[in-house]
Amino acid sequence: NLTISNFTPKPHTPFQWFVVSKGDLERKQGLLKRAFRKMKGVKANYTDVRLSAMEDFLGRGDRRLGPVIRRAWELGAGMDSWWENLDRAFAAWCGAIAEAEDLFEGGAIAEDSRSSRSRVRNAHLTIPKELDRPLPWDHINTGIHKDWLKEDWQRALEAATVPDCSFDRCSHCGVCGPDLGHNVVIEPAPVPEFAGQFKPKTAKALRLRVWFGKLGDMALVGHLDTAKLFERAARRAAIPVSFSNGFRPSPRIKIASALPLGTTSSGEIVDFELSEEMDAIEFKQRLSDRLPPGVPIYRVEPVDLAIPAASRLLEKAEYFIEVAAIVPNGLEPSWGSWVKGVMDATSLLWSKRTKSGDRLSAGPVSVPQVQRPKQKGQAQ
Ligand code: SF4
Repeated sequence: NLTISNFTPKPHTPFQWFVVSKGDLERKQGLLKRAFRKMKGVKANYTDVRLSAMEDFLGRGDRRLGPVIRRAWELGAGMDSWWENLDRAFAAWCGAIAEAEDLFEGGAIAEDSRSSRSRVRNAHLTIPKELDRPLPWDHINTGIHKDWLKEDWQRALEAATVPDCSFDRCSHCGVCGPDLGHNVVIEPAPVPEFAGQFKPKTAKALRLRVWFGKLGDMALVGHLDTAKLFERAARRAAIPVSFSNGFRPSPRIKIASALPLGTTSSGEIVDFELSEEMDAIEFKQRLSDRLPPGVPIYRVEPVDLAIPAASRLLEKAEYFIEVAAIVPNGLEPSWGSWVKGVMDATSLLWSKRTKSGDRLSAGPVSVPQVQRPKQKGQAQ
């Protein structure tokens, strides 16, 4: 698997004078796609060019972009890097930009000094005067001389390598001086001897069942990240977690059920299998000390290693959902009859948005599965 991100020039770098257009990124991705199609066994993933175009646009603006950002938000931008929101966000940005065309005529965005490829190709011949034009971020002094950035850009065109001044000679970028002091070149740390592959403990001595919550902002941490959180907390707490066998050993920490993103809960369960005996109270204390406040540990109990994991024992969960009703003026919402209508129905229709952005109607869903309306509560 190969993930390819698009290069978007940033202020205070040798490419600060240039923009990348969506068309340019598409052309480059097209070249890569054609090349990778011929390579067997390589799966290439690409960052959406619209994301990079938005990043480039925002990264090169000045304070006059403020109203455009606000307008984009009003038109529906936000959570732009989530694929579910990308269509809407990109349309919102395009709409906000179209409404503010006069800003760009006034120079709110640093102009591309040389957006055409032929000009870039010839750029190493001369440093054009356009590079001396003021940029929106010129008033921020990073210490790096603008002339050094121009030279560095020339070096980039020639594919020359600038030495890393932490370990090699100084290239006089301008940062060091009486204010910030002078750079001290340090010897690279010695590469340690290879101590052999890590051999995790795979013995299973104890299983502890842990009841925990996901509160507040933790609702925005997804299932896989929550699993990682437990792995890291257990490691920091020096809890002797047992690892699975096989080519890629993984810690035996299993969350009983994946909580939908954005949902808080006071009734989650996770099983820890340990390679050695440990007191449950000490385990609870050590783990709690390493977890954020939004993940309280309510209870820890030892359970028999021979019984199935919590993920297989789980039968149902209770959810509590807050519902807001939009009703015509003057009418009272008739909650009772609506809830009864749902409970009496023999089927419920639902829709799903797939990664490709399509909306699919699916269902029917058997109503007897719906025990109660939904925040996820005590899992049972
Ligand atoms: S040593 Fe200081 S002046 Fe020289 S390249 Fe490094 S940061 Fe810049």
